[in-house]
Amino acid sequence: MSAQPSIVIAGGAFAGLALALALRQGLGEAVPVIVADPALASRPSRDPRATAIVAACRRLFEGIGVWDEVGPGAQPILDMVVTDSKLADATRPTFLTFAGEVEPGEPFAHMVENRLLINALVTRAEAEGVTLRATAVTAYQAHDAGIDVTLADGETVHASVLVAADGARSKLRERAGIATHGWEYDQSGIVVTVGHERDHEGRAEEHFLPAGPFAILPLKGRRSSLVWTETRKEATRITALPDDEFHAELEQRFGLHLGEIKALDKPRAFPLGYFVAHVIHPIAGQGLNMGLKDIAALAEVIVDAARLGIDPGMASVLERYQRWRRFDTMAMGAATNALNVLFSNDSTLLRGVRDIGLGIVDRLPPLKNIFIKQAAGLSGEVPRLLKGEAL
Ligand SMILES: Cc1cc2nc3c(=O)[nH]c(=O)nc-3n(C[C@H](O)[C@H](O)[C@H](O)COP(=O)(O)OP(=O)(O)OC[C@H]3O[C@@H](n4cnc5c(N)ncnc54)[C@H](O)[C@@H]3O)c2cc1C
Repeated sequence: MSAQPSIVIAGGAFAGLALALALRQGLGEAVPVIVADPALASRPSRDPRATAIVAACRRLFEGIGVWDEVGPGAQPILDMVVTDSKLADATRPTFLTFAGEVEPGEPFAHMVENRLLINALVTRAEAEGVTLRATAVTAYQAHDAGIDVTLADGETVHASVLVAADGARSKLRERAGIATHGWEYDQSGIVVTVGHERDHEGRAEEHFLPAGPFAILPLKGRRSSLVWTETRKEATRITALPDDEFHAELEQRFGLHLGEIKALDKPRAFPLGYFVAHVIHPIAGQGLNMGLKDIAALAEVIVDAARLGIDPGMASVLERYQRWRRFDTMAMGAATNALNVLFSNDSTLLRGVRDIGLGIVDRLPPLKNIFIKQAAGLSGEVPRLLKGEAL
């Protein structure tokens, strides 16, 4: 058993690795930071998906030293259009447009390919002396002097804090008895990368179709990442279609405004759900961003405590984190759920209501700016790392 209390992070994906780097930066080498995740054995990552990273989270990546590596491959979202129509409609009238800057020269979001981000985080973590262990956390025992964390390879690590960054359906959260409530949607998100003839010019499109949102998100080059909502049954059917039939389904929804299109990888379906906290519908592209806001707040709370000589594992320290993030997490969950209910249906009445709402937002620049700030993660009590400040 190691003598010095470490901080152990279970989960070495985006949230876990970003937290490890933030803590390393704020605490220095005195406190060992260990990230344990069996998936670290299969790096570099080849995940074909991409994620919208909002401005606040881009500032976090800049602060922890990975944006130099990721930025050149990231596609800024320069503007966004929202349409609302039926599948067979010949045209898709635009109800809302956003020009995408939070500050002059700072786009409200970037599309980043998951593998680029994860590989940059792993490389940086190794360079900064974070201990990476390709093994799972299987158990833990909390006591007055800290927490003993058992790894799948049989070792026990004495830690001051154990952070569960083990994903949306976290087993460690369950084990800790942290209640979640929510439901599975009868929806899956089909994810596929599409190549197209014409340039997207940094435009993101969200088409509200009867089955749910169909989002076209720009990637570097003449490529876009799709998040396409269908009922679970329909998503299973569509992803199993032969290439030519899949292409026909895709073209019907995507349209030909960017010229000829072609799927560049195998479409995959992800079941969608809503759980407080942290499982939300990808309708607003906020899932990971929410996790990154958590880790920015947690890193700040831990580093502030350590600087005052307070044990970061004390309940009072971690309660500050809990209070800080609770409202934002619940509000974001409720908002994405409401959007999904409002937009994933074919009711003529609801279509009228939502289109009036979108039209009002579109004509009121101050309201639009509030939405942009909110979507970019820059409203409320923003942690220092998300403001681009050092810890
Ligand atoms: C269709 C779709 C589209 C999305 N689009 C967006 C978007 O545009 N923007 C956005 O912000 N978010 C988006 N998301 C959400 C985003 O993908 C997730 O929020 C993000 O992957 C969560 O990252 P994470 O690091 O918290 O966890 P994960 O990426 O889930 O990683 C958890 C890690 O923990 C490890 N692990 C599990 N158990 C243990 C254990 N016991 N011990 C150690 N390690 C363990 C796993 O191996 C894994 O590597 C989308 C999600 C879906 C389904």
